[in-house]
Amino acid sequence: MSETRKPKRRRPAQLPARRDRADKRGMSTRAIHAGEDRERYADSITTPIVQTSTFVFKDSREVEAYTKHGKARFEYGRYGNPTELVAQRRLAELEGAEDGVLFTSGMSAITTTILTLVRSGDHLVITDDAYNKTLEFCSEYLQRFGIGCTVVPFGDYRALERAIQRNTRFIFSESPTNPYLNIFDLVKLKKIARKHKVLTVIDSTFATPLNQRPLEWGVDLVIHSCTKYLAGHNDILGGAVLGRAGLIGEIRALHRGFGGVLDPHCCYLLVRGLKTFALRIERQNASAMKAARFLEGHPLVKKVYYPGLASHRHHDIAKAQMDGYGGVVTFDIKGDLAMAKRFLDSLKLCFIAPSFGGVETLITHPATITYYRETRRARYELGITDTLIRLALGVEDADDIIADLDQALKRSARARKRKK
Ligand SMILES: *Cc1c(COP(=O)(O)O)cnc(C)c1O
Repeated sequence: MSETRKPKRRRPAQLPARRDRADKRGMSTRAIHAGEDRERYADSITTPIVQTSTFVFKDSREVEAYTKHGKARFEYGRYGNPTELVAQRRLAELEGAEDGVLFTSGMSAITTTILTLVRSGDHLVITDDAYNKTLEFCSEYLQRFGIGCTVVPFGDYRALERAIQRNTRFIFSESPTNPYLNIFDLVKLKKIARKHKVLTVIDSTFATPLNQRPLEWGVDLVIHSCTKYLAGHNDILGGAVLGRAGLIGEIRALHRGFGGVLDPHCCYLLVRGLKTFALRIERQNASAMKAARFLEGHPLVKKVYYPGLASHRHHDIAKAQMDGYGGVVTFDIKGDLAMAKRFLDSLKLCFIAPSFGGVETLITHPATITYYRETRRARYELGITDTLIRLALGVEDADDIIADLDQALKRSARARKRKK
């Protein structure tokens, strides 16, 4: 049965998702072994990069076995590749999903998933604290196709329920969110979705499956930008959607037409990056906690936003539904825009760059990049102060990062005094 009410069409044969006993194994073990056969191609311990656009058929009988009798094999690069299959299975096993699909970017995963779920005349609900481009796609672009969208305030579950209409297909949210790391209550989400029979989609990029597994909380589809923690080395763009086989199969069918497939080399880098996934996230969780505590006690810092801190507005929800709080810490420093700029310019180790989750520690200043607006007033309307800093920890020694933050804070404050 098609879960998205689309007319059913014959789909190309798909190699089955393999789950064996893997879901009983620990996260680190899965990160290294999941998705690969014990028997290795050419005895190579690493997954080969199958750098090909097409796959050859031995003879016409082989063609017929594939097209007519559904033999599981590869046909053409856009319909699947062995390196991609390993990455896809590994991610599915980490998230505890039956199946998954990979994309060229997180945005490709989001847009393809959404377009699979809706058709003209449908409606969706999205929370306002969501990735900018996702919000834009839902509330502006989808209108062209007669798809309605209600944007509700994040955390207002009553408004969320009220927004559901007869033609609502799904609720889309994120948790944690950027840059304040707000946490969405997945128990409440499930309750509302069940009651109104709508699907739920969570962008779980900021959490990773080590810290949060929304499928265990009854969410239907989980999306990741693999660009961040999952690939983890700031060297590729990638995306994934994970969930039960039926829904994923429908997304895959559209994906094959849209064509945003992850190339074999990127798939290899993702498979390679995932091997250290659990190690990296454990380190990032620990370093972020340490940095958050340090910043919270710093005389030049006004406020710290980290779900692992008791002072965070959603600490209790985070504690209940997460195993760790991630590697991103947001904080507001004392002073003004000039002070924030001096702070950025005083950094010696952390890089000024968007993105997060990779091995290098990155810092962004939302007011001048992600949420850049001409006027201060427009920025503040978005809830972004001029002194807000987002710190995304890498896997360096936490003390070195903390020392860098400390010297940059002190240096920028000294410069401020001199100017007075
Ligand atoms: C980065 C990000 C995306 C977009 O992913 P890309 O790989 O850059 O396309 C979507 N959602 C969240 C929460 C992100 O952080």
